[in-house]
Amino acid sequence: TSFEEFGFADTILQGIKEAGFETPSPVQSLAIPALLEGQDATVMAATGTGKTAAYGLPSLDYLVRHPKETMLVMAPTRELAGQISDELYRLGKFANIRSIAIYGGRSYGRQTDIISRGVNVIVATPGRLLDLLDSGRLKFSPSIVVLDEADEMLDMGFLDDIQRIMDYVPDRAQTLLFSATLPAPIQGLIKKFQKNPVMLKA
Ligand code: AMP
Repeated sequence: TSFEEFGFADTILQGIKEAGFETPSPVQSLAIPALLEGQDATVMAATGTGKTAAYGLPSLDYLVRHPKETMLVMAPTRELAGQISDELYRLGKFANIRSIAIYGGRSYGRQTDIISRGVNVIVATPGRLLDLLDSGRLKFSPSIVVLDEADEMLDMGFLDDIQRIMDYVPDRAQTLLFSATLPAPIQGLIKKFQKNPVMLKA
């Protein structure tokens, strides 16, 4: 397959080209068509397989077509949140999509200022995100929610925070869960928060 076959907006294809991606990786070929249809999905994929673009490209394409909507990505560490935010910025640059990484150790003020200036993509570690939501400093209503490296987030003790964050997410949101493994608590999250998810394994 080629990236042209997915029917992405021209600005997204430009981002793909600028990033130097020539052909979709296996997880991208597998996941992108289902995600473009708006389905919930659970995808088993390890790091380094191109999973960020697998969920990022269809989500960015949705945001091009629905510029007032937002996407939330939860990730286990500040390093990963930063990398994801950078990658989504790079891919969405020509579509003027703005992204922010939110994690512990940065001042609340700056992060919430940026959010109030119309950011479409929020990439966050669960603990800090929940602080901002519970304190009312951040208000959002994401149309797409991604749990990236869900099993790592579980290992880091974020299960409760994730469940509580999901209370702030509209039921109609598309939920995408990426994980290398699916231990029982992750299967519990899938049952609780996903609507007839397609199960994909690259
Ligand atoms: P990830 O698994 O999302 O962390 O991606 C691993 C690396 O592969 C990152 O540096 C991506 O920018 C890169 N990458 C993702 N998809 C592609 C692709 N289709 N072609 C070339 N590089 C890619």
